[in-house]
Formats: sequence, structure tokens, C-alpha cells
Amino acid sequence: AASKILVSACLIGQKVRYDGAANESAHPVLLRWLEAERVVPFCPECAGGLPVPRPPAEIVGGVGMDVVLGHAAVRTRNADVSEYFLKGAQAALARCEELGIRVALLKARSPSCGSTQIYDGSFSRTLKEGEGVTTALLRQHGIEVFSEDEFELADQALGR
Ligand code: SF4
Repeated sequence: AASKILVSACLIGQKVRYDGAANESAHPVLLRWLEAERVVPFCPECAGGLPVPRPPAEIVGGVGMDVVLGHAAVRTRNADVSEYFLKGAQAALARCEELGIRVALLKARSPSCGSTQIYDGSFSRTLKEGEGVTTALLRQHGIEVFSEDEFELADQALGR
């Protein structure tokens, strides 16, 4: 069977974002993957036990790998929610390992799914370079992670 790809559930229209919305993409590459039944939808924050809707969260004091290593936290304005984000990242990795998935296409700028930029922890909509917690854990285990700005690159990686 053709190899599968882990895709952020919000990108295929599941209303799992913190604010109860989706980020549905109609990119032709995604539609082709869906048609071929290669897409494994996954929302790390839901898998980690967080509800929809939920308060927005940002990584404070580092980037995704710092959270994995216990050196930074994912926080809402009031609480440390690192535990949920770590549990979700581990569930994403387990799903990839179970299905032999080597490529993921995840939503940009999320504290879980972001792959090049995330919000900087000041809750002022300010971006910084870095990746989310799930992306960091997947990459640490050799899984290639792309964003919705990189469908073509992900498609090439998947075809290899
Ligand atoms: Fe989408 Fe990832 Fe946020 Fe879930 S955790 S809503 S899949 S960006």
C-alpha cells in the first residue's frame, strides 16, 4: 500500500482549533492524498486531552524541543498545559510508528503543529522562529514535517 501521511485534523476541516474553527485547505495535493486514502488526520491537542474550544496557548521560555526536554512550558494566560501538549505529541508519534508514517503536513504557527514559526509566549501575536511540541518530537524521531505552505515539498518527500 502507498505510504500514509499524518495531517493536522484542522486542515481537513475538523473543527478542532482552540477557538472551535477549522483551517480547511483545498490544496490540490491534499485533495489527491485524500482521494488516495493516504491521509491520517490527527489533532495533537485533542489527543492530549484538551477540549474544544480551549484557551489559546503559547510556548513560554523556549521552543518545542525545550518543552520536550522539560526546559520550557506551554502556557495559557493562567495555567501550565505542557502535560497535555506532551501527551498529544507522544500520541502523534505513536500513531506514526504504528502506521509506518515518515512524513507529516502540519498547521503552521501552532504551539503543537508549527514547523518554522511559533508565537513567542508574550500573547501579543508576535512570531518567532521555532517549531511546536509535536513537530519537535516527530522530527527528533526522523519524521519529516512540512506546513500547509509546503504541500508540494511534502508530496515529493512522500513519493521517495
Ligand atoms: Fe490543528 Fe494542530 Fe491545533 Fe489540532 S493542535 S487544531 S491539528 S494546529
